[in-house]
Amino acid sequence: MKTPCIGMCKNNDGICSGCHRTMNELQIWRKIDDTQQQATIDQIQGKQSTHTCEQCGKPAYCDISAGKSHCWCFDIEQRDTSSIQTDGCLCRQCLSKLPLK
Ligand SMILES: [Zn+2]
Repeated sequence: MKTPCIGMCKNNDGICSGCHRTMNELQIWRKIDDTQQQATIDQIQGKQSTHTCEQCGKPAYCDISAGKSHCWCFDIEQRDTSSIQTDGCLCRQCLSKLPLK
């Protein structure tokens, strides 16, 4: 089974601070197939991206931009983005570092 886990799993209010999967993704991980696992890993690691994170300039992936109806960011505790001067979505790393709303 593919996994981006780096052995530093910690639930950071809905998102793993080690591998940046959401708790929802962790729960369904064994049920999704190899292709879906690889796609999720690529999205987390920036190999697949829809835009650039305006906070850190790295590739980021928004499921909504990709045409889906549900984004990974809906599954984590809502973060306070009031300090961020952007309308665009942040990458998982940057979003998970923000304080809770
Ligand atoms: Zn970022």
